[in-house]
Amino acid sequence: MKVHEYQAKQILAEFGVPVPQGRTATTAAGAKEIAASLGGRCVVKAQIHAGGRGKGGGVKLANSPEEAEQAASRILGMQLVTHQTGPAGQKVKTVLVEEQMAVARELYLAVLIDGAIARPVMMASAAGGMEIEEVAAKTPEAIQRVSIDPVTGFQPHLARELCFALGLTGDAMKQATRLMSGLYDAFIARDASLAEINPLVVTDDGRVLALDAKMNFDDNALFRHPEVQALRDKDEEDPSEVEAQEKGISNFIKLDGDIGCLVNGAGLAMATMDSIKLAGGEPANFLDIATANDVDKVVDALMIIARDPDVKAILVNIFGGMARVDVIAEGIIQAQRKMRKAIPVVARLAGTNVEEGERLINESGLPVIRAQDLGEAAKKAVAAARAA
Ligand code: GDP
Ligand code: MN
Repeated sequence: MKVHEYQAKQILAEFGVPVPQGRTATTAAGAKEIAASLGGRCVVKAQIHAGGRGKGGGVKLANSPEEAEQAASRILGMQLVTHQTGPAGQKVKTVLVEEQMAVARELYLAVLIDGAIARPVMMASAAGGMEIEEVAAKTPEAIQRVSIDPVTGFQPHLARELCFALGLTGDAMKQATRLMSGLYDAFIARDASLAEINPLVVTDDGRVLALDAKMNFDDNALFRHPEVQALRDKDEEDPSEVEAQEKGISNFIKLDGDIGCLVNGAGLAMATMDSIKLAGGEPANFLDIATANDVDKVVDALMIIARDPDVKAILVNIFGGMARVDVIAEGIIQAQRKMRKAIPVVARLAGTNVEEGERLINESGLPVIRAQDLGEAAKKAVAAARAA
């Protein structure tokens, strides 16, 4: 789960990470008021669940309450397009108005889990700011990484190593060390998967603070963090993914191609998508129905897949174990009768009650394209999507 910058900053501040003073507004008049309370000089920042806002025109400096009002009226309601939003962009509903900092240096600092070593790592770079992706791609050696033993936690020598890479000494190093500890503590205490500060700045008067903040949370740990769940903004999420979760369908993921996939199990989802790519196609999405033995859920699942405007064909790949193929088949039949536009459905069904499932589909008279194995199913789905 993702949260907005202002929410990430609130969490980090709780753990002692210094952040600029500021508040959020949903109207230009509200932004003007906050700017006045901050003394006029401020930054107006679009709050969306995507980075790259600065380059997209979503971050504006203002030197008076009037300028802040003007900046907010331009940012609020805009369809902000960044390299992380996709071409449609994301509509801005909230701005964060913060005191403006006199920035001397822009650095980069982040904590995330390195799956390869099964540990958190802290990364730092003296080349922070809006070009960090380019730094990572072209000069990865400019990013210093330290791995953290979760038992002993974030040790002072790790902070020294990172501060050295950042060129921080004396008092700035002391401040940065405290800040790094706070960042690590917030990351662990909230079960985050990412806590990133870009830029971490040194101000003209020698203060070290988080000018931007991003936190992502491990969905599998959300159950023990009601305080994090409360920060969820569903407007920022893919509506079909939200609906799938609300209907108790474990997993719907939107992708870029044109073949919708209904599968049971994460491994089968991966194998199905690999097979589609091998057959020259691209998946539009996949929905993992898990062991749902409920016709209505299968219908809901297929309707969510079919509603995706990119979907030109649907591949149903079910290997019935706990899941019963006859239930899936009944769901396919009912969903096909419900679909407003006819989308070709290719079904590869195997496992529990497969004979009964086959019989139901045959008797329905619906044009379900059949396949005996996954390779054949993928080829037929790619052909059906091309023909559509
Ligand atoms: P992002 O583009 O979505 O990552 O948004 P950021 O919060 O990182 O802001 C983008 C850029 O705006 C930063 O890298 C800074 O260069 C600039 N910026 C943001 N706040 C301030 C500020 O208070 N003072 C100054 N001088 N620059 C700022
Ligand atoms: Mn940033």
